[in-house]
Amino acid sequence: MIRIQILGSAAGGGLPQWNCACVNCVAARAGKIDPQTQSSIAIGVESEKFQSWWLINASPDLPRQIESATKLQPRRNNPRNTPIAGVFLTNADTDHALGLLLLRQQEKPLVVYATDETQTALAWLDRALARFCGIEWRTASPEFKSLDSGMAFRAIELPGSVAFQFRDDTCSRIALFAPSVGSLTEQLRDAVHTSDLVMFDGTFWSDGELGRVRPGARSAREMNHIPINDGSFDVLQQSRARRKIYTHINNTNPILMPGSHERAQLEQAGIEIARDGLETLL
Ligand SMILES: [Zn+2]
Ligand SMILES: [Zn+2]
Repeated sequence: MIRIQILGSAAGGGLPQWNCACVNCVAARAGKIDPQTQSSIAIGVESEKFQSWWLINASPDLPRQIESATKLQPRRNNPRNTPIAGVFLTNADTDHALGLLLLRQQEKPLVVYATDETQTALAWLDRALARFCGIEWRTASPEFKSLDSGMAFRAIELPGSVAFQFRDDTCSRIALFAPSVGSLTEQLRDAVHTSDLVMFDGTFWSDGELGRVRPGARSAREMNHIPINDGSFDVLQQSRARRKIYTHINNTNPILMPGSHERAQLEQAGIEIARDGLETLL
């Protein structure tokens, strides 16, 4: 059985974001909605023995995410160890990669799956970590390859990012993680329709959302995130996946506010909104 936990559900900046006074950030500071850390997901095969966990993106909030998830903490039988086996990067964005730097006390090189393009963009981080544990770069293939016993994975290339699918080899169920989607390619649509669990880019509700908080800001699509409305909503709605969850949610997104009609639209469609700590079996 594959277990999945959302460590952080917010887009870059988190909720609240340090310099933001939008309605959601104000509500989070006032304790009216739950704060959320920046996007990261843990996935691992459940077994009696020692368990290893893989992360999809490593956010700057990773140290405190580890402290709030017992399963990611070191075992007590040895003074220095970690159950974290490695990290999958969807792209080189700061909110996805900065957490790697915070794992620098690791004893062995950090195993990181990333495209050549992402590896090149993170040359600075590679140099910074070379003085510590170093990085063992790997590339994910478009075909399913075995990762741990009982679990296989593959990458789906998108413009400027990748999505990942993980398959449970005992039951053949598939999970799709696509927190950074600039375009709904045919391959990605297929993956949404053939996965049992879908965690999808819920950064923005609308294309011009950020511009209403910060005049002159780029649109969602210009930032390589298709919005939910007039974007990914229809595709997710039509998917037969057992669970569909929007994650990597920006603090400006109206779906975060209880009672908003945008949130109600998702609820009516049976699509969930991620929150930190949400745990599920595939
Ligand atoms: Zn991000
Ligand atoms: Zn805000």
